[in-house]
Amino acid sequence: MFEELKALARGMWTTFRHLGRAKNTVMYPEQKRPVSERFRGRHKLYKYENGLERCIGCHLCAAACPSQAIYVGAAENDPKNPVSFGERYAQHFEINMLRCIFCGFCEEACPVEAIRLGPEYELADHTRESLVYTKPMLLEPEKFAPKRQFHADVDAHRGRVGGMPAGEKSVAGAPDGHRDTPTGARPSARKDIGG
Ligand code: SF4
Ligand code: SF4
Repeated sequence: MFEELKALARGMWTTFRHLGRAKNTVMYPEQKRPVSERFRGRHKLYKYENGLERCIGCHLCAAACPSQAIYVGAAENDPKNPVSFGERYAQHFEINMLRCIFCGFCEEACPVEAIRLGPEYELADHTRESLVYTKPMLLEPEKFAPKRQFHADVDAHRGRVGGMPAGEKSVAGAPDGHRDTPTGARPSARKDIGG
């Protein structure tokens, strides 16, 4: 009997001790905590400031993907109206998110930092189709991502990892031809298009 009372008193003491403390409860999903800078969520394809796409259709991301989740259909650029800096661009770009394991190898393999994994983690949906991302969905998730999978409050939080770094002047590790100029276009492409 004495032991039970002692256990009860200890339990009540623990309860009273926590009454005055600040609450740790997060009212999810109304309230979302920012994810870590290292977090890898939904992918995004990026453009340079002049509107040219970063992706040059090289397939390296697809080759590096251990889940075979990426499909790249490359096409030749029209020098007068290029889509990207390179000779080729990604005419089709798809990621099957049902296969993706969010390892980030595609991001690591990309020589021009065209693809990055962002902070979006609320990616559940009802259909397979909505989880096979097409190029428009990856370039402009704000417009084309399935509604259930786009949350402005999560997506807005993009740091160095998963987002275009503020004031970025060059593409780390890329050959000179892919470095940003003040306008974002490499010299040869500007010459070809009469810029
Ligand atoms: S994060 Fe990994 S599994 Fe997902 S598409 Fe990229 S390389 Fe493939
Ligand atoms: S995203 Fe990068 S690695 Fe993948 S095809 Fe485009 S340029 Fe190549």
